[in-house]
Amino acid sequence: MANWFNNFKEKAFGDDIPIKQKFFNIVCIGAPCFSFLATIANIISGVTVGANSSHLGLWACIICTVTCLALYPLSKLIKNMDIIIGIVAFGMNFLIMPLLYVALGGIKSSMSLYFVVAIVFSVLMLNDTVKGSLLVFFAFLWDGALLWAEAANWHGFADLISSFFVYHGNEYLDTFLDLIVCALCIAVLVKILAKNFEAQQIRSDRLLAQMEELSVKDPLTGAYNRRFLIRYLESSITSCRSDGRDIAIVMFDIDKFKRINDDYGHLVGDEVIKAVADILKKSCRDYDIVSRYGGEEFILVLPGATEETAIVRANQIREKFSAMKISPEIDRPVTISGGVAELTVSMKATEDFIKAADDNLYVAKETGRNKIVGTTYNKGLEEVQA
Ligand code: GH3
Ligand code: MG
Ligand code: MG
Repeated sequence: MANWFNNFKEKAFGDDIPIKQKFFNIVCIGAPCFSFLATIANIISGVTVGANSSHLGLWACIICTVTCLALYPLSKLIKNMDIIIGIVAFGMNFLIMPLLYVALGGIKSSMSLYFVVAIVFSVLMLNDTVKGSLLVFFAFLWDGALLWAEAANWHGFADLISSFFVYHGNEYLDTFLDLIVCALCIAVLVKILAKNFEAQQIRSDRLLAQMEELSVKDPLTGAYNRRFLIRYLESSITSCRSDGRDIAIVMFDIDKFKRINDDYGHLVGDEVIKAVADILKKSCRDYDIVSRYGGEEFILVLPGATEETAIVRANQIREKFSAMKISPEIDRPVTISGGVAELTVSMKATEDFIKAADDNLYVAKETGRNKIVGTTYNKGLEEVQA
């Protein structure tokens, strides 16, 4: 039973069902239910107050129930949703509601409130603003004419109708029951609307978060991409400069990586790239970020760090990495080299900062690999050589 119900719920109101179709399904399910309730209300008021009431009101309710029940198979028959929604909106506003209004006792039956419900449904279901406005306009004219004819006790149309259909007595009970049904109808509509919008809001928030994540991250390693790195560096440089704080970066590159690709294949090569990203991510503290700068080059941003601190941390990472067993296929140690740069006043742009790290990485490669080189150390090396 619960399974059947869940299946039905998914088919009629699942996440993939367009909102317009959902409203149509509400009409298909809700309208017969409410018409059925109105039928019961009609019977109760007839039974309680006496047999002098017109049976036409009851028949109108029964006809309405059956018509509403026919909506769903009709929607299966006519595949064009716009046509079916047009038929429903037209039928609701110009045939069913006015018929019930006349048959159930005019203004005293509270049927005029149902007109509001019919118009609200029509506006929600019709996509076309012009068609919707026209329908609402004519529905108001049509319903207004009915009310006016009744209020003016217009001899002719209203008299003719009331002499046939409108019954007197039962008014209070009828009004009371109709009001409850009408209130229920509006409450259900508003509730469903609110729930739908809430669900859609949650879904679009989740999608937006996923999109944001995708737009800043590299799919292979989950590290930030180059675009994000540049943005992050620009804002970090500005804030570090204004607060007088240090900031350093380390550019890492895998040593002799082309040979790893050649000897073990690109898939194993990818595993090595992922392993570097993982070890870098694990070493991050608050505000540090790891970015995949190029194919097998990563930049670690360390806000608040001096060159010395950055060299110490980069060496810890380098040592840990060279001791790691990445893949059973790799039978020789894999190492990384790094170039460290600390932000100085002479650096005008973000590119200068990155270039300083890149230059130091080049020195690390040229002087034997598997090492970390910073500007001070680099200078020291030149001094030693000189
Ligand atoms: P060096 O020690 O001087 O850095 O030598 P190297 O062989 O590592 O030279 P380099 O850094 O220029 O190598 C880059 C290679 O990285 C070339 C390219 O085939 C490979 N590569 C770039 N992106 C990827 C990737 O996403 N997956 C794999 N498997 N290989 C990549
Ligand atoms: Mg490289
Ligand atoms: Mg390399």
